[in-house]
Amino acid sequence: MALIVQKFGGTSVGDAERIRAVANHVARTRAGGNEVVVVVSAMGKFTDDLVHLAEDVSPSRTAREMDMLLTAGERISMALVSMALGAVGVESASFTGSQAGIITDTSHTRAKILEMRPDRIREALDDGLVPVVAGFQGVSTERDITTLGRGGSDVTAVALAAALKADVCEIYTDVAGVFSADPRVVSKARRLDKVSFDEMMEIAATGGRVLMLRSVEFARRHHVPLHVRSSFTWEPGTWIVEEDPTMEEAIVSAITDDTSEAKITVAGVPDRPGVAATLFRELANHGINVDMIVQNTSAHNVTDISFTVAKTELDAAIVACEKVQKDIGAATVTSDDNIGRVTIVGAGMKSSPGVTALMFETLYNNDINIEMISTSSIRISCVLRADRVADAVRHLHHAFGLDAE
Ligand code: ADP
Ligand code: ASP
Ligand code: MG
Repeated sequence: MALIVQKFGGTSVGDAERIRAVANHVARTRAGGNEVVVVVSAMGKFTDDLVHLAEDVSPSRTAREMDMLLTAGERISMALVSMALGAVGVESASFTGSQAGIITDTSHTRAKILEMRPDRIREALDDGLVPVVAGFQGVSTERDITTLGRGGSDVTAVALAAALKADVCEIYTDVAGVFSADPRVVSKARRLDKVSFDEMMEIAATGGRVLMLRSVEFARRHHVPLHVRSSFTWEPGTWIVEEDPTMEEAIVSAITDDTSEAKITVAGVPDRPGVAATLFRELANHGINVDMIVQNTSAHNVTDISFTVAKTELDAAIVACEKVQKDIGAATVTSDDNIGRVTIVGAGMKSSPGVTALMFETLYNNDINIEMISTSSIRISCVLRADRVADAVRHLHHAFGLDAE
């Protein structure tokens, strides 16, 4: 008998019919002799709708109240899925994140899990029930309700799978697995049978939102086997696995796109030690995550520093930069939210010369200008105009031989 954690994303529980389909699938898994823990997201775009509603109601929203609001979405799903399970003869009980023992820090809207105490989930399993847990949420050490960041139900599922020592964590979504590019952008994208944790982390970090980055990190750390698959076809999807040293790695496995970031340029900065430290300390003090950073070579001892941040943090980042502008003697702070990023990911590029050249040539041949570049040993990212990103992904997908027949 295996213990399986099954997580169903927004589309997978999007309406009554989908919820009944989920219940049937859980019932089948149980009938196969397995124990099942279900984790659910909010229905469809419900979380987005709640965000818009909040924006409509008030120009200033505390993070605590946003968390209280957004967790309602998953609460609706968990109760409905539990009812649907009852209708197909599966006994179950729903649990909020707090009831499931997910203890987090106090960083509202992006809380980190500090501890898992899933006693009630284990008891429910021992009583022969299917526990249905609301994803994306926990309770803080201050006893407030928190959320784990957008897409956080993936983290809930993996954390529960780790704590319960589940045999597998299945992530059911609206595509058939992890593809060589977002199938909504590249119609010729191919489903990958296996992806290494290293590659999956780069894919998740650079826009492939099929798995939330933190869930991949968590799964690797706790050795949770992860299987991403479709809740429409129920076919086997993509396994996220440890790298197999005996296998030859693909040079490029996936191309990702991301238009969720904006660029800030602090210009006319004196080129002396301590300036970057002051600037990025201030950003850190505001809790802002900085992604790509580029500093130009200095001319006459002044330079420019450009970096990217999530669009949702742009306003706060500008405030932070303007606050230190005088201290560091910078001339201007400007921003640009019309940028996007295209990234090629592949564990095999470590040992293959020419990958960078082919990427740049492909962009050049299609008249796409590169504005910033960053690399890791298995990734190359370029910042472009936002409206060229989809084109860039398609051309690179073709150039690196990833197009499906
Ligand atoms: P869920 O609500 O099930 O969590 P998400 O919307 O968070 O679903 O993630 C699934 C989506 O991720 C897909 O619909 C797809 O458009 C997008 N996606 C982006 N990149 C990829 C990729 N490389 N492979 C598969 N899906 C991807
Ligand atoms: N409902 C939340 C969101 O839309 C969490 C999730 O779906 O994983 O971000
Ligand atoms: Mg998701």
